[in-house]
Amino acid sequence: MEWESALLHGRFDATDSTGATLPAIYQNAAFEQRSAEDLERIFTNRKPGFAYSRSGNPTVAAFEQRMAAAEGGAAAVACASGMAAIAMALLNILQCGDEMISAAGLFGGTQDLFEDLRAFGIRTRFVPRLTPEAVEGLLSEKTKLVFGELISNPALELIDLAAVARVTRRQGIPLIIDSTTATPALVRPLALGADIVIHSATKYISGQGNAIGGVIVDGGNFPWDTDRFPPLKKYEHAGALVYTTRLRQDLWRNFGACMAPQNAYLSVLGLETLTLRVQRQCASALALARALAQNPQIARVDYPGLEGGDFYDLTQRQLKNGMGGAILTLRTGSKERAYRLLNHLRLAHIATNVGDVRTLVICPAHTIYAFSTQEQRRGAGAFPDLIRVSVGLEDAEDLIADFSAAAAAMGAD
Ligand code: PLP
Repeated sequence: MEWESALLHGRFDATDSTGATLPAIYQNAAFEQRSAEDLERIFTNRKPGFAYSRSGNPTVAAFEQRMAAAEGGAAAVACASGMAAIAMALLNILQCGDEMISAAGLFGGTQDLFEDLRAFGIRTRFVPRLTPEAVEGLLSEKTKLVFGELISNPALELIDLAAVARVTRRQGIPLIIDSTTATPALVRPLALGADIVIHSATKYISGQGNAIGGVIVDGGNFPWDTDRFPPLKKYEHAGALVYTTRLRQDLWRNFGACMAPQNAYLSVLGLETLTLRVQRQCASALALARALAQNPQIARVDYPGLEGGDFYDLTQRQLKNGMGGAILTLRTGSKERAYRLLNHLRLAHIATNVGDVRTLVICPAHTIYAFSTQEQRRGAGAFPDLIRVSVGLEDAEDLIADFSAAAAAMGAD
């Protein structure tokens, strides 16, 4: 089955017993059982079923099954947000004294989370770019995982997954990839060597800026050595699914990181149109990037699909049809000029999100990274004059006209 068909008809029942083509929204906390014995069986995993929506809910399960199919994974666990998904995915295997290696080019919230983890004795060793050589240079006995954003936000740097995966596999440590900005419409990281894939479902998956959510997809074929990853030891009986079993039975449940049923429904709905939206948004992003690259008022345009850019070749090789995602960045020369451009836009909204159907713009350095250190901002590529543009579904010509007019007004002010 091709990817688009698997999204609608994958390894799950597309209809329920009523014939409904979409999952119902089970907006309840508890699920009544016929007998005390049945409730015990569900609690002890001897009978499939639901007991309590923090540990399992049919609407959320429908989203999880579709995400596992979308990414070609063995299992998925939905979370309250993208941040919850990242925190749970890492803490599922990390302990006090452990280290992880990560690219410095990270979403600001993830940078802040890694700072928070220091209080629990977990240290992140940052590399400017996640290359095999950079990872090899920092490996130690303490290293338990390698983390990176497939297309980093807002640095827009790409990871060569196959190359990095060769190193992580050889070392017996998992490669955990935040694929939020790439989406399974452009690349399925598990097929290229990643072991765990994370999404903020808030972005392209729900796709309309209407639901906060996250998801962790387990490829189900990482050879976990439970002596090296002691938190998994208790769940060895789960075999290939040891990672997801520990997550679901233990950490995710106990942190209360579950996704809300309403948001799971909205994410299922979004997932069904993901490919169409992403293809259109990528095409418009490329058109806008090309137009603005010619604009004398704009100092620099970065977009992975733009000819001549640092990541152009990798984009062509790794992302479907060479599409570079739907985010581009503009350098304007100063914060003042950047703000003037933003304030002259008529179509694009000044707002902090990506992956919406509407085009959204922000200056990350003064918002998302406002309380970050200089080093963190530099690592993330959050320059003071940089504007991040998340391209929506508006007509590309309208967007080009809007940005061109705002750039002209910025120069004239
Ligand atoms: N990962 C990336 C790449 C993001 O851009 C974001 C949010 O902007 C997140 C994770 C966090 O997602 P959420 O806002 O759903 O917690």
